[in-house]
Amino acid sequence: MSKVALVTGGTRGIGASICLAMKNAGYTVAANFAGNEEAAARFTEETGIKTFKWSVADYDACVAGIAQVEADLGPIDILVNNAGITRDAPFHKMTRDQWKEVIDTNLSGVFNMTHPLWSGMRERKFGRIINISSINGQKGQFAQANYSAAKAGDLGFTKALAQEGARAGITVNAVCPGYIATEMVMAVPEKVRESIIGQIPVGRLGEPEEIARCVVFLASDDAGFVTGSTITANGGQYFI
Ligand code: NDP
Repeated sequence: MSKVALVTGGTRGIGASICLAMKNAGYTVAANFAGNEEAAARFTEETGIKTFKWSVADYDACVAGIAQVEADLGPIDILVNNAGITRDAPFHKMTRDQWKEVIDTNLSGVFNMTHPLWSGMRERKFGRIINISSINGQKGQFAQANYSAAKAGDLGFTKALAQEGARAGITVNAVCPGYIATEMVMAVPEKVRESIIGQIPVGRLGEPEEIARCVVFLASDDAGFVTGSTITANGGQYFI
């Protein structure tokens, strides 16, 4: 029986590439999404991967959604916390709603998804938790106090939980992508994109597949000794 992997925000962008790479590596994959039914339907049509709709910001919805995935596909062995949003604004203009939405999704969402799965992974003595953080959680970013705080929080969560999971066969790791050529980044004006590329020593944006390959490694048996780590994949833009 192949292992079961659940990828949050798995129907678009980096998450979709992760789902596909995990499928190609032999896992049974479930992709969660928040509300874009059209993108989810297209994704299933193209990949054959099942999708499940709920918000990671809602703990009860996560419990119910996880139960549905497990009833359909079996116990979840690998969780990829990829779902994320931005609500950018310079701090003097940032609203409490912009702060809360990003913290609820990008930080509490990681708790909401990991917590209901933790006991089962401990009992089965196997688990892989992979958190998609960001370069901007490592270095901070103008107009992203909310996003940078949440993504830095994900790294603290990763390191703390890695210590708790180690004896139970559960590894907890993070990937920090730099700027990746997803719809979001490709939608910014060409001039802005060129200035971003100018800050990346390798001279180009990253590809979603390059992040997906990091996740496939962290999920694999080969990565059993890797826990509490962060893979930084940013084309040399920032070293930590
Ligand atoms: P996209 O905006 O392309 O896709 C986001 C995905 O997350 C969608 O499937 C979306 O669902 C889902 N999602 C959003 N909110 C929720 C929610 N509350 N519950 C469940 N699913 C949700 O994102 P990217 O591929 O660009 O980013 C993926 C991850 O990588 C994020 O965590 C992001 O912060 C991080 N990252 C991205 C970088 C980049 O350059 N793109 C750089 C560094 C980090 P739906 O389709 O229904 O809206």
